[in-house]
Amino acid sequence: MTALTVLGATGSIGDSTLDIVRHVGLPVYALSGFGRLDKLFKLCVEFRPSRVGVPSDKVDEFAGRLKSANLAIDVVGGQNGLMDLAGDKGADKVVAGIVGSAGLRSTLSAVWAGQTVLLANKESLVMAGELIMSTARRHGATLLPIDSEHNAIFQCLPRAVQDDNTAIHRSEFGIKKLWLTASGGGFLHKSYDEMKNATVAQAVSHPNWNMGSKITVDSNTMMNKGLELIEACHLFNLSDAQIDIAIHPQSIIHSMVEYVDGSILAQLSSPDMRVPIAHALGYPNRMDGGVKSLSLFEMSALEFIRPDKNKFKSLDLARHAIRTGTGACVALNASNEVAVSAFLDGRIRLTDVADTVERVLDDDELGADFGKSFDEPEGILALDRRVRDRTDVYLRDLND
Ligand code: NAD
Ligand code: MG
Repeated sequence: MTALTVLGATGSIGDSTLDIVRHVGLPVYALSGFGRLDKLFKLCVEFRPSRVGVPSDKVDEFAGRLKSANLAIDVVGGQNGLMDLAGDKGADKVVAGIVGSAGLRSTLSAVWAGQTVLLANKESLVMAGELIMSTARRHGATLLPIDSEHNAIFQCLPRAVQDDNTAIHRSEFGIKKLWLTASGGGFLHKSYDEMKNATVAQAVSHPNWNMGSKITVDSNTMMNKGLELIEACHLFNLSDAQIDIAIHPQSIIHSMVEYVDGSILAQLSSPDMRVPIAHALGYPNRMDGGVKSLSLFEMSALEFIRPDKNKFKSLDLARHAIRTGTGACVALNASNEVAVSAFLDGRIRLTDVADTVERVLDDDELGADFGKSFDEPEGILALDRRVRDRTDVYLRDLND
């Protein structure tokens, strides 16, 4: 039976994954959490992993709690601990479910160790797509996307392309382009001014999906689709010109592959992350993860709408970043993370997020590094820190 490591076990991807684990009865090898350590403790009691990762300053306290509960679990701390867990072959599959750039090093470590990685942490591919994909190839790692759109595309591709993404260009497969679908978020039918005046409560709620707060804000600005466009370029070895975006407010079709003969293959399900996660957990077989069937007769009409690029400028910013180079993608991601957290703290407006990312992408001094590629994570993380500092300066300007 597949033993699992779940990094980011206390988050929304962690919840969906562990729900399947409960349903199927899979063994859990390791878990990690950052905040909400009470929840992580309960998960340790329930799943009895061999190892657990917590923030470095919480190792002793957490180890003490486990000991008092008679649980013999190895506790590791900080990013080094996460990298250790990610590369540990005690697990057959590693779920990369940490949010944001904090997931980069552990994702890379899992790939470096040749693991099978169920990838939710899209930010690591945005920051280091080339490095992750080339390391995976060299070290024999398998990347199975669990971001729902990328999982849908993966399911609609021929097996030979699933096994080797360089095969996507072979003419006999006839792959013309990919269609990423987007819900359009909660402001799809609202005016720009309503988006500008959005409250934090509005921006952390989503019409179809129940997710962590950062990705929910990203969905509402459509930066999530921008990040996913870059994620898709790396996962499927295509340029952004071969990837189109369609708003599909019902979130039933999770993405599509268009073939040269005029066929478009789509994957449909209810908007429930347990579907892509169960697919990746069972892959190459299928597994019942406990999700209800999609009820075709109760479904409303399926709509497709062209995104409004003026209201959702994140889409063009992401296209600009992937065309410019890895450095620009690092900058897009870092400035977005900093701006989203400023919005969540009530310091800026929702529409300031994309405006701030745009200002950072226009910054001449940082821009000298935007066309760069990186063959190790240190350079990426150094640029990430510089961009964060500069974004803070721009955010202070907004508040003056
Ligand atoms: P979340 O906020 O619900 O959970 C994040 C997890 O990461 C938590 O376990 C948290 O403890 C951990 N974490 C946060 N900061 C950390 C740090 N500095 N160091 C170590 N761990 C840290 O987020 P989520 O919605 O589960 O999203 C996780 C990832 O999956 C994101 O990259 C997101 O884009 C992607 N994703 C999520 C969904 C979804 O349905 N939630 C869908 C597709 C993709
Ligand atoms: Mg997605």
